[in-house]
Amino acid sequence: MSAEKKKELQVAALENGTAIDHIPPSQLFRVAALLGLEKMNNTITIGNNFHSNKMGCKGMIKIADKFFEEDEINRIAMIAPNVVLNIIRDYEVVEKKTVTLPDELIGLVKCNNPKCITNNEPMLSRFHVIDKEKGTLKCHYCERKINKEDIIIK
Ligand SMILES: [Zn+2]
Repeated sequence: MSAEKKKELQVAALENGTAIDHIPPSQLFRVAALLGLEKMNNTITIGNNFHSNKMGCKGMIKIADKFFEEDEINRIAMIAPNVVLNIIRDYEVVEKKTVTLPDELIGLVKCNNPKCITNNEPMLSRFHVIDKEKGTLKCHYCERKINKEDIIIK
């Protein structure tokens, strides 16, 4: 079997749904948690440490009959900015989506400054993405900078 064919099989084998590819292995279970997979009744396949020419190693999640909304995808972009979403219909990849961090994240991340107004008032947090490459955020209200590793998802 050709390498190309094998690769295809690894991704497909899903009648309808989404295959999330190129997940950094260390982030796989955070991605699963962020997407709320434990609450879904869909058929879900989670695989980790697949060989990847691009990344060395990668994780993959396949979710049957699930097509994500933009804001759900934005959540993944925060911790796994290079993932690829393969949209599968009738066993064919009909669309490939890459995720990108939006310029602003509203109500998704908790500010890690305990004195920040967003931690003391019933309001949504708001962050500017100041470095998309590194995933650095800055709180709109208290200007606290948060690095990717320290991001706390609400
Ligand atoms: Zn803040």
